[in-house]
Amino acid sequence: MAVVEVQIPGPLRTHTGQQSKVRAQGSTVGEVLQNLAQEYPSISSQLFESDGSVRRFINLFVNGEDVRGKGGLDTEVSEGDRVGILPAMAGGTGLTPEQVQRYHRHLIMPEVGSRGQRRLAASKVLIVGAGGLGSPAAMYLAAAGVGTIGIVDFDEVEISNLQRQILHGADDLGKRKVDSAAETLERINPTINVIKHDEPLTSANAREIIRGYDVVINGCDNFPTRYLVNDVCYWENKPLVDGSIMRFDGQLTVYAPGHGCYRDLFPTPPPPGMVPSCAEAGVLGVLPGIVGTLQALEAIKLILGIGEPLVGRMLMFDGLSMEFRELKLRKDPECPVCGEHPTITEPIDYVQFCGVPHETALVG
Ligand SMILES: [Zn+2]
Repeated sequence: MAVVEVQIPGPLRTHTGQQSKVRAQGSTVGEVLQNLAQEYPSISSQLFESDGSVRRFINLFVNGEDVRGKGGLDTEVSEGDRVGILPAMAGGTGLTPEQVQRYHRHLIMPEVGSRGQRRLAASKVLIVGAGGLGSPAAMYLAAAGVGTIGIVDFDEVEISNLQRQILHGADDLGKRKVDSAAETLERINPTINVIKHDEPLTSANAREIIRGYDVVINGCDNFPTRYLVNDVCYWENKPLVDGSIMRFDGQLTVYAPGHGCYRDLFPTPPPPGMVPSCAEAGVLGVLPGIVGTLQALEAIKLILGIGEPLVGRMLMFDGLSMEFRELKLRKDPECPVCGEHPTITEPIDYVQFCGVPHETALVG
């Protein structure tokens, strides 16, 4: 007889006093269910038909493996095993059977569950730039089931992109980046909706574009766009998951509405030429993979409302020493955008503000 942990899905928790995990005994999955039903009698009718067989819409898992591929109810369990119960079609999951299968590893986690999965499906995330940061962010969000992913970029795929921009492959050279990105995301998850914004993000269109999304991921590679996205996210009340990379180093933070902005840290851009771009200084290809993946994680946490978002904190990653450090960010009451007496209340000329020559500015 082993003691196992039974993971109770949301719809069944009314029968277990809202506990998401309970202990039960048994040497097989069938025995564990019987003992569970003895401990929590009202769950019995949810799990069993009147003849005592397990209802057909209930799927059972041991340590994440479907017991149908093992010994069914006779599958043996050992001390400390995790037994998952997944009501596949009924139980009010609001998900299709295909979704239940696709997102199974999410659904068995109480922090996500069917409610969280539906939230992901209903969410809209804008990714600024289908480049090094935007690639892994978009791919993981698509795989996770974020229902609408917008991509703003007006570049074409070039061969020098392929060292890090994994949305694009050798077959995509010369394609519009938004097209190449949409094809990759649809291959990963054809059930989501990809919106292509094949245009530069500018002072003229940024508010309208950003307004249509719940969360913005910044994967841009230049200062004018960085300030533009920051300001517009503040005015439109959208959380901004900001990331940047250079050579072996990365930075990551979340600007949540009411909790400061990029300008609190960097009120003015560095003089042109002072901070080299990745095109000038280089970047190890995997670096944006790390930072962009962390951006996807923060976006998912914001959508699900779980964990501690990276708000008021700047995470610094040094790939050479393999160290993560954290800095506390201060809100600046004098900030011209989010401060007490704002002086900038609508998009400005960001190219002029950053002193960048027109032809190199606003690269998505
Ligand atoms: Zn600010």
